[in-house]
Amino acid sequence: MTEEVTVEVTDNVGEWTKFLKKQFKRELAELSREYPHKRSLTIDFRKILNNKLAFELLRSPGKVLGDIRDAIVQNKLLKLKDGQDPDQINIRFTNLPQKTDVRDIRADQINTFIGIEGILRKTTEVRPRIVSAVFRCRSCNKNTEPVPQGYGRFDEPDFCPNCERKTRLDLVMNRCRFVDAQKLRIQESPEGLRGGEQPQTLDIDVTDDLTGMVSPGDRVVVNGILRSVQRINSGQKSTLFDIYLECNSIEIAEKEFEEVSITEEDEAKIMALARDPLVYKKIARSIAPTIYGTDDVKEAIALQLFGGIAKDMPDGSHLRGDVHVLLVGDPGIAKSQILRYVVKLSPRGIYTSGKSSTSAGLTATAVKDEFGDGRWTLEAGALVLADMGIAAVDEMDKMAKEDRSALHEAMEQQSISVAKAGITATLKSRCALLGAANPKLGRFDQFVPIGEQIDMPPSLLSRFDLIFVMTDQPEVERDGAIAHHIIKTHSVGELIKQHAYTPLPEVDEAYIERALAPVIPDIDPTLLRKYIAHAKRTCFPILSDGAQDALIAYYMRLRDLASGNKPVPVTARQLEALVRLAEASARMRLSNTVDTEDTDRILKIVDACLRQVAYD
Ligand code: ADP
Ligand code: MG
Repeated sequence: MTEEVTVEVTDNVGEWTKFLKKQFKRELAELSREYPHKRSLTIDFRKILNNKLAFELLRSPGKVLGDIRDAIVQNKLLKLKDGQDPDQINIRFTNLPQKTDVRDIRADQINTFIGIEGILRKTTEVRPRIVSAVFRCRSCNKNTEPVPQGYGRFDEPDFCPNCERKTRLDLVMNRCRFVDAQKLRIQESPEGLRGGEQPQTLDIDVTDDLTGMVSPGDRVVVNGILRSVQRINSGQKSTLFDIYLECNSIEIAEKEFEEVSITEEDEAKIMALARDPLVYKKIARSIAPTIYGTDDVKEAIALQLFGGIAKDMPDGSHLRGDVHVLLVGDPGIAKSQILRYVVKLSPRGIYTSGKSSTSAGLTATAVKDEFGDGRWTLEAGALVLADMGIAAVDEMDKMAKEDRSALHEAMEQQSISVAKAGITATLKSRCALLGAANPKLGRFDQFVPIGEQIDMPPSLLSRFDLIFVMTDQPEVERDGAIAHHIIKTHSVGELIKQHAYTPLPEVDEAYIERALAPVIPDIDPTLLRKYIAHAKRTCFPILSDGAQDALIAYYMRLRDLASGNKPVPVTARQLEALVRLAEASARMRLSNTVDTEDTDRILKIVDACLRQVAYD
C-alpha cells in the first residue's frame, strides 16, 4: 500500500515580488525601457543575505530562479511595449559570500549555487545552440509541439506524435529557439596553490548575454549552478558523472595584487622596513637565500619584483613598467633554482619551460579540438596566465619558433594578438619575464666573445632590461664558499628535523641560530610579498632633476661605447630600461622621488651587465 505523500512546496513568488518592488524599482524601470536589448536583472547577493531567501537560492537555485521569473511575469513587474513578452529575461546573482575552490567541489554540491574563482584558460567561439526544437512530419506534414533541448545531446522524437508513424521528421528552423552559447574553462589561480600542485580546472557553460564577455587570461569569479552529466564509455552509460558549471553570472577581477591583504599591523612593519637604510640589501638578500653569491642577479630580481611604472600616453600608446631579466649561464649554476624561488615569492608567478609547456606554448593558440565541440578554442599560454605577475621561463633557448616571434609583441606591447580562422583576439600579457637560457654550445667557451654565444636574435635580446652572463669557472675561494654554504644548508635541515623529534640538550638555541643565519632570509617571505604589493599599489615615484641628468649622461656614453656590430644593440629601449629600473629602485624604499642614489645603484648593475654583452 502506498501512502499519499504531500510534498510541501514553499512558494516564494509573493516574497520575491515584494522584495523586487521594494529594492529593484530603478533596475526594473531601466529594464522595461531597454528590453530586449538589455535582458538581465542582476541581484547583488548581499542584498538578500539576511533573508531566508538567500539560503534557498544556494540550495535550490533552479526553483528560486523560476520563482523570481514568475514574480516578474505574473505581476507584470516589467512594463513592456505592446507585443513584447518578458520570457527572455535572465535573473543573475553576483557577490556570493563564499567561493569554492575547484579542487574542493564534491558530490553534495551538485545542483546547488556556487561561486568559483580563478583564471580563464580557454574560451570557445560563440555559436547558437538550439534550446527548443519544432519538427515537421514527412508523412502527415504536421508540426510537433516544441521539444526542449538541454546541454549536450540533441533530443529528437523517433516517431511522429501526430500520426504515430515512424518516419523522418524535419527541423522547422523558423519555429525553433536558439541561444548564444560559449564554453569556458576556468583554472585555479596560481597564488592559491601550495608548492608544486597542478592547477585543476572546471568547464563552464555560458549562454545569452554573458557570451563573448571574457578572454583567456582574465581573472574571474563565475557563479552558477553545478550540473552533472553521465559519462558514456563506448556507448555504455557509466556510473560516473562529469561536472560543469551552468553559468549564472561572471565577475571580472582587475586589480593587481588584490589577493594580498595587508592589515594595519603589516603596514606598520612595512613602514619600519622602508625606513631601514639597509632595506635594499635586505630585500636582495631575502631572495633565494639558499643560493650562495649571485648577488647582482638577486638585486636585479628584487628590482623586477617591484617594477617600474607603466605609462599610458595621451596618444594611446603604452609604455611598460615591467622589468624583463634574462639569465644566460652554464649548466648547474642555480638558474632554475632562482626561477622557482621567484615564482614562489611573487603573487601570480608562473614557472614554465620553453621547450615543454602546453599546446598553448608561452603565448596563446587557437585550436579546433574536442573541447569546443567543433568550435575554435582560444587557449592562454604562460605569459597570459602570468598577467600582472612574473613569468619565469626556463630553457628559453629551446622554445618553439612561433613562440619566439610572438614573444616580441608580448614583451613590449604586453599583449598577444591571435588571428586564426574564426578567432581574432588580443590577450593581455602584462607580466615581467624572467628568462633562463644556456649558451649556444651548452657551455660558455672562454675563448669566444660572450656576446656571440647567446643564441637569441638581437630583436629579442634588446627587449630585456638586464641580461646576466653566469659563467662557471672554477675559482678556489668561491667554490669553497659555495661548498660550505650548500653543506650547511643541508646539515641545518638535518638539525631542524632532529630537533623537532627530540630536544638536543647539547645544541643550544644560539648555536642553531648561528648555523641558520646564512640561509634564513632577512625578511620573511610573507612580509616581503606584502611589502611588494604595498609598494606596487601605493608608490609611483617621479624622476628628480639629478636622476634625469644622470640617466641621460649614461645613455649618451653608452651609445658612443657600443657603436659597432654588437649582439645586444644599445637603442632607445635601453634608456627606457634605465628609467624603469630607477623607478623600481625608488619603490623598494617607498620613495616618491627617484633620486641619484637610485640611479647610482642601478647604473652600477646595468653597466656590469652591458660590459659583457654590448661593449668591452
Ligand atoms: P641550472 O638551472 O643553472 O642548470 P640548477 O638550478 O638546476 O642549475 O642548480 C643545480 C644545483 O646546484 C641546485 O641544486 C642548486 O641548489 C645547486 N647550486 C648551484 N649553484 C649554487 C650556489 N651558488 N649556491 C647554492 N647552491 C647552488
Ligand atoms: Mg636549469
